[in-house]
Amino acid sequence: KRESVNGTVKPGEDGDKADEEEKEDRAAQSLLNKLIRSNLVNTTNQVEVLQRDPNSPLYSVKSFEELRLKPQLLQGVYAMGFNRPSKIQENALPMMLAEPVYIPSGSRPQNLIAQSQSGTGKTAAFVLAMLSHVDPANKWTQCLCVSPTYELALQTGKVIEQMGQFYPEVKLAYAIRGNKIERGQKIQDQIVIGTPGTVLDWCLKLKFIDPKKIKVFVLDEADVMIATQGHQDQSIRIQRMLPKDCQMLLFSATFEESVWKFAERIVPDPNIIKLKREEETLDTIKQYYVVCSNKEEKFSALCNIYGAITIAQAMIFCHTRKTASWLSGELSKEGHQVALLSGEMTVEQRAAVIERFRQGKEKVLVTTNVCARGIDVEQVSVVINFDLPVDKDGNPDNETYLHRIGRTGRFGKRGLAINMVDSKHSMDILNTIQDHFSKKIEKLNTDDLDEIE
Ligand code: ADP
Repeated sequence: KRESVNGTVKPGEDGDKADEEEKEDRAAQSLLNKLIRSNLVNTTNQVEVLQRDPNSPLYSVKSFEELRLKPQLLQGVYAMGFNRPSKIQENALPMMLAEPVYIPSGSRPQNLIAQSQSGTGKTAAFVLAMLSHVDPANKWTQCLCVSPTYELALQTGKVIEQMGQFYPEVKLAYAIRGNKIERGQKIQDQIVIGTPGTVLDWCLKLKFIDPKKIKVFVLDEADVMIATQGHQDQSIRIQRMLPKDCQMLLFSATFEESVWKFAERIVPDPNIIKLKREEETLDTIKQYYVVCSNKEEKFSALCNIYGAITIAQAMIFCHTRKTASWLSGELSKEGHQVALLSGEMTVEQRAAVIERFRQGKEKVLVTTNVCARGIDVEQVSVVINFDLPVDKDGNPDNETYLHRIGRTGRFGKRGLAINMVDSKHSMDILNTIQDHFSKKIEKLNTDDLDEIE
């Protein structure tokens, strides 16, 4: 039984609780994204490649055949329904699969730091690289992959198992808490995936793995990793034990300065691949605000809106769990089929709620800010900010506002956003957001709704 969405993060008694929740949230969000994702994220942006050795030819492939994979692996790739490499894979795969360059002092593998938003094919890429580099005849660990949490490690493990389904000689072990292995033995599995603390124990204290025999080291979700206390140091300690000619690969969905600094400590002489996130825009969105004086009035304004226009599917954002559950109760009483996403749910439960909503089983999704950050439900045409987005200090959160209601160019369907304002303070927040995007948010009179239809 899993105890929390992120078993490795336990807010310390005197720690900054909000901060810890924020960190836990990143791992949970990442897991949620994995659970609800069914295919690749589309992007029109170009991949940026920075090669360590600018003189060596730049390879990119348009098909999996060109990679000369082992037949068992090619079969695995096709069995997963992949027809051709994703944008990031086109460049990352040839680089990761390239033979090491031999230099007088030994061999230099192609190291890589890759960044692209979640859903663009990073995991599939490094899994394929690990599977390609192992020698199944050698009964020791050759590839080591670290993930920020137990659950994320399990998800990646599933991909390894799936892609390696026709290559049963290659074995996988999970270095995660609770996986008890008899002391005094060496692990024979060629690939080990786990969380940094347990992996470190397996290498150092329990000596299940000989780090000197590792050929490929993968650090996944670097941004989530460094958000967790202790993981950064543990990862660096693992890296220090590996041989110089071990291939080091690091992946991240975002690349803020702190991730970059960490990446440079983990990956020497890196090649770098970056794929920019598709930019979101408010251009195709009509934005309105409604003035109310309390939450009951907001609710009746909402009912008026529902009475006046046809809303196929809507997402409603609330600031607290309490408001979200109250609102979903009120909407249910009015006869709406409501789905509720709330912080006390496990990530699996949240994924199930979102999946049902996606399939149209419910027409309204009420959620708290934290739960729905980073979720894309493309068919939603109406977004209602029952409470305006603010950060943990209570300041206007422009980025979240944009992400909630903005659309990327490619899926640029028209949308409608309605913001509920109930105080001078929330009016100020609205004005700040409006100024930030230089895009007018029109006042809506809910007794006369002809204009929005
Ligand atoms: P990331 O690690 O960047 O979040 P994943 O590797 O998990 O991305 O891939 C996202 C989704 O796309 C997964 O469902 C995966 O099975 C699928 N996928 C990955 N590569 C391909 C591909 N080349 N063709 C089709 N689907 C792919």
